[in-house]
Amino acid sequence: MLPCDSPYRGNLLMAAVSIIFLLYSRKMKGPFMFSNDLINVVSYFLVSLFMHSHQQMSRMEDFKNRRIIKVQRDTDSMTGAMTKAAFENNTIGFLRNPESEGCLLILDIDNFKSINDSFGHSIGDFFIANTGRCILDCCRASDFVGRFGGDEFVILMLGRLSRDAVQNKVMIMTESLKAFFKENTKYQAYSISVGCALFHAGSLRPDYQELFNQADHALYIAKNSGKDRCIIHGE
Ligand code: GH3
Ligand code: MG
Repeated sequence: MLPCDSPYRGNLLMAAVSIIFLLYSRKMKGPFMFSNDLINVVSYFLVSLFMHSHQQMSRMEDFKNRRIIKVQRDTDSMTGAMTKAAFENNTIGFLRNPESEGCLLILDIDNFKSINDSFGHSIGDFFIANTGRCILDCCRASDFVGRFGGDEFVILMLGRLSRDAVQNKVMIMTESLKAFFKENTKYQAYSISVGCALFHAGSLRPDYQELFNQADHALYIAKNSGKDRCIIHGE
């Protein structure tokens, strides 16, 4: 029944029905029958109150656990960014709206293998974790940030952006990453390469796969033209 689906509503409904019944009983039956009804109503009400509350608490616990499991499933434990699957689902959902605009960026740490080789895997993990943290700090809460495994990150910046605005945002992010690793590690040559693909509202919008391929190709050009740079598809 609908009133019982929401917390406390079932109990309130039960209390209201009990009061109406007791008023009726008091008016229409004798004092003896009324006192019997009173005892019955109070005991049934207390039992149902306990059962209802217990049921609601289990439901709320279930709901909380499902949310925790979903967050854990969708979050990369090393960086706090989204997993590949969560990022793709969110981005595909966003692109379904033909009015949506933004920019897809793929970021990859330059020469990361040499960081692993020189300092060991756990320091490599430190680089990945802090790259993720800095990227998240530089993005808006509404942007999607994902880690596609290894040293590769993906961002979907939402809203209309010019090429200059994208270059500017990437520069701020890169400077903040470089400053962090310069200050906190012995590795002074940290840099990233970035490939971007802009998309605007309108009829000729690329789908997710096309957009990803465009950004990936731009990243390929950035890597092959000396690294430590940002290339926007179509430049
Ligand atoms: P490039 O400049 O072209 O990007 O070369 P790169 O050396 O950064 O190499 P690439 O991006 O192709 O490969 C990333 C390496 O990251 C490969 C793998 O050994 C390492 N790696 C992948 N996952 C992890 C991880 O979870 N932790 C650590 N420490 N290393 C990882
Ligand atoms: Mg790399």
